[in-house]
Amino acid sequence: MSHTARQLKKAARIILVGAPGVGKGTQSERLLARFPQLASISSGDLLRENVRRRTQLGVQAEAAMQSGNLVPDSMILGLISSELTSKGWLKPSSSNSSAPNSSTASTSSSQSAASFPQISPTASFILDGFPRTATQATSLDALVPVNFVVQLVTPPSVILARIASRWVHEPSGRVYNTDFHAPKVPGKDDITGEPLTQREDDSIDTWKQRLRKFEETSRALLEHYERRGCLWRVEGKSSDEITPPAVRRI
Ligand code: ADP
Repeated sequence: MSHTARQLKKAARIILVGAPGVGKGTQSERLLARFPQLASISSGDLLRENVRRRTQLGVQAEAAMQSGNLVPDSMILGLISSELTSKGWLKPSSSNSSAPNSSTASTSSSQSAASFPQISPTASFILDGFPRTATQATSLDALVPVNFVVQLVTPPSVILARIASRWVHEPSGRVYNTDFHAPKVPGKDDITGEPLTQREDDSIDTWKQRLRKFEETSRALLEHYERRGCLWRVEGKSSDEITPPAVRRI
């Protein structure tokens, strides 16, 4: 199979849904490399940037993020829509525009409909981390017609085994996996020779809890897209198994 850059068949508004540890980041990177028209918008990155810059929104979001809770829907929706707008993909259609049929917009009751934002027909992107709930998905429907929701499925036992063999070099953040990316010397970082550790939050109990939580919260989200007929399920035990069918879908 060729890995050269490809054209999208049509504008793609993609959402990847998958359990923690399933490799959403890896699939995102591969899709971005394969389809140069795509860009990725990560809700977590946008939030972290706001926290770093100490914006009002960042200060408000910080506590929820630190405690592992979701930030309020209105906050995250505002953040995503302003990002889409600043990239030029979402155009606020002004109510006093010179549109030929703007006469109907003169009454105040039609003001909100007239100022409804419009998505650029060619805008193509992957949303990473958003929407997380069915409520967020409903709000997003009003802004952007999402057309590819790819559910990445890997058996929980496989994810847990992968986590158990993950080792980190804390100072640099370099990550190893004794199954498929082992350090040259067991237990030692390849570059510095310093000891590798397993992160506190890599404990199997924490992961089991995370996977259960994901199952619970993702159910309604997946049903939402299933009803709209744009949900594709791609199953595999590794990222390499998942990538080819995911790419073919898009
Ligand atoms: P993780 O993959 O570790 O959950 P993310 O980078 O996606 O992290 O998000 C970090 C934090 O930002 C989340 O724990 C949550 O508090 C907040 N967050 C991100 N996306 C959303 C969202 N769609 N809705 C609500 N909160 C969100």
